[in-house]
Amino acid sequence: MIHAQGGCLCGRVRYEATSQPARMTVCHCRFCQRATGGAYMVEPIFDMQEFRITEGTARIYSHVSEGSGKEVFVHFCENCGTKLFLTFERFPGSVGVYAGTFDDPDWFDVPPDATKHIFLGVAQKGTIVPPQVNTFTEHASTPDGTPIAPRVFDRPHVIGSR
Ligand SMILES: [Zn+2]
Ligand SMILES: [Zn+2]
Repeated sequence: MIHAQGGCLCGRVRYEATSQPARMTVCHCRFCQRATGGAYMVEPIFDMQEFRITEGTARIYSHVSEGSGKEVFVHFCENCGTKLFLTFERFPGSVGVYAGTFDDPDWFDVPPDATKHIFLGVAQKGTIVPPQVNTFTEHASTPDGTPIAPRVFDRPHVIGSR
């Protein structure tokens, strides 16, 4: 049984995952850029039953997504401000973890076919997208769940270049 653990900077909020992530999303949207303060969010996604808080309590900020109009819940430590994970009105059984908060952010092993890069349309200039993964200009599916055809690069792709 896997017990991969993580937590916030100050250590008051701790969590654990008990399975490999179901899939991995690397999200370049403006929400993730603003919420991480970086170029994109690396987001392993777990089934809710495989993830739990083991210490402390996370506060929740509810953000209405501009795209879908649905709420995204940001779970964070009110003492140190670290964002730990997301839950979603749109995907109620899923938890998207801020990968860098795991004690060992390299513990999970997600195959390329379960990985996707989304919102490349607003990705920051100079961001490098790896080859052989599915990428999307925005979401990977329409609001009614219809999949959108991915674009796969055959070599590393630099945003802003041709
Ligand atoms: Zn904290
Ligand atoms: Zn995003």
